[in-house]
Amino acid sequence: MADPDCLFCRIVRGEIPASLVHEDERIIAFRDIAPQAPTHILLIPRAHLGDVLDLGEADGPLLARLMTTAARLAVDAGLDRSGFRLVTNTGADAGQSVQHLHWHLLGGRPMQWPPG
Ligand code: 5GP
Ligand code: ZN
Repeated sequence: MADPDCLFCRIVRGEIPASLVHEDERIIAFRDIAPQAPTHILLIPRAHLGDVLDLGEADGPLLARLMTTAARLAVDAGLDRSGFRLVTNTGADAGQSVQHLHWHLLGGRPMQWPPG
């Protein structure tokens, strides 16, 4: 269900411009407005889900689309050899700032583990 006030729902509807790198009937992917790495892409479902806590078994095909698309975009960006990180933040301690389920695809520089 679309949320009229949700930032990423507004991007899905085209009300806020975004640099799209992928779109299909289930998901879109676009460049993060404040990139934290040379490649920083966000992948989101078109449907409004707040975070991974909203997912159920029936969302399997959606998750498959998100993950396989992330992998393809990583290959397209040449990250399959150097490596990349695919992460979803959930809640306050993880620093989630947009309450619409999304994965960050980050790559193009070495990253620390554990994350800060
Ligand atoms: P979170 O902090 O929720 O894990 O990630 C939200 C991400 O959305 C952040 O990396 C932030 O830079 C990005 N973001 C916030 N507003 C916009 C926007 O209007 N356009 C784009 N492309 N990214 C945004
Ligand atoms: Zn939303």
